[in-house]
Amino acid sequence: MARMGYGEEHDAFRHTVRSFLDREHEPHLRHYESMGGLDHAFWKKAGAAGLLGLAHTGEGDFTYYAIMAEELGRTAGSATTGSSLMSDVATYILVGHGTEAQKEKYLPGVLTGEWTQAMPLTEPGVGSDATAITATAIRDGDDYVINGEKYFISNGASANLLYVVAKTDPSKGGRGMSVIIVEADTPGVTQAKIPMIGWRQGDTGALNFDNVRVPATNLVGVEGGAMKILMDTFLEDRIQIAARCLGAASKALELTLDYVKQRKVFDQRVIDFQNSQFMLADCRADIRITETLVDTAMIRLRNKEFSFEDGAILKLWATQMEGRVLDRCVQLFGGAGLMDENPIARMWTASRIQRIYAGTDELQKVAIARGLLA
Ligand SMILES: Cc1cc2nc3c(=O)[nH]c(=O)nc-3n(C[C@H](O)[C@H](O)[C@H](O)COP(=O)(O)OP(=O)(O)OC[C@H]3O[C@@H](n4cnc5c(N)ncnc54)[C@H](O)[C@@H]3O)c2cc1C
Repeated sequence: MARMGYGEEHDAFRHTVRSFLDREHEPHLRHYESMGGLDHAFWKKAGAAGLLGLAHTGEGDFTYYAIMAEELGRTAGSATTGSSLMSDVATYILVGHGTEAQKEKYLPGVLTGEWTQAMPLTEPGVGSDATAITATAIRDGDDYVINGEKYFISNGASANLLYVVAKTDPSKGGRGMSVIIVEADTPGVTQAKIPMIGWRQGDTGALNFDNVRVPATNLVGVEGGAMKILMDTFLEDRIQIAARCLGAASKALELTLDYVKQRKVFDQRVIDFQNSQFMLADCRADIRITETLVDTAMIRLRNKEFSFEDGAILKLWATQMEGRVLDRCVQLFGGAGLMDENPIARMWTASRIQRIYAGTDELQKVAIARGLLA
């Protein structure tokens, strides 16, 4: 079935992304695993291949970003290296809300992969209730002085450009939160990797800010503007996560089909059991529905018709869909589905993350219910 809303230029970009990942990502997974994440050389190659920032620099549109998410989802590497290339939401913050001086200083390096970005918001004691963060950025003359801890941050241990969310006015709750750019080599910043069971080669980091002094000109947007900036990123982020779930579920179905066609049990192929066929049919139906949802979401985003509630529904559906499909696939593999070396096992553990990060299932339901109650 033809996909909706893609032109020849998008198909060409999909081809570029797929070949890049086949060449630079998949064969080197063990190397990245030993290093604990992607290296800067990888990012620079991605920049040279034109994969970074396309959605926000006027050379492309959001569709490119969603294509990259879906293609990344289709790789076994995605199941291990985590968010990796998906830092265009941070690029959006720079392009959409940064000052001309900030853009001039950082954007060229973001596009070449010199600067790799992270968005530290979550803290050890604060996740879903983002406005309860305790990190502070207190104005002192021409500087901000930042103190606090951040946890579970994608690209957090390796990124060299941080968009830190901290309270510039702790008395104002959510309205006192601001986004401040911090170069990671600023004195007082420490970065460490948190070992995770999903995205094992990925970089999920913990950061500490101990009297970190940065110029006040590093403020992005206005003081107290963090929640608006974050809300502005939500729609695109929901769609890229859904696209990634779609890619992963499609790849999992392909891997499983290959396996059940050759695995024999009780003298017949696993695919010959009607139960297997029904499970695979359920996977196909889930994937087809999600394709339509993702493609329609991109068209509606372009037409400015995609709402916050739509984004919550899409994230809830797509992440649960990926979980359902991966669970069925692991079941059809039997014990082999849980072997560490089997990509399906890594895809399964990675799929569990999707229902937690960037707003848990429950938070999406809270957003949907708010619309019902209004
Ligand atoms: C791999 C990974 C990458 C991440 N990347 C980033 C990043 O780049 N930047 C960043 O800032 N953060 C990042 N996060 C953090 C992520 O956004 C949080 O983990 C997520 O928001 C949930 O917060 P929490 O883990 O503290 O769970 P908690 O907030 O402690 O939630 C615990 C449970 O309570 C439930 N709950 C909470 N509120 C409600 C409610 N109102 N009603 C019903 N149930 C509720 C939750 O749904 C959940 O089931 C990442 C996390 C992971 C795992």
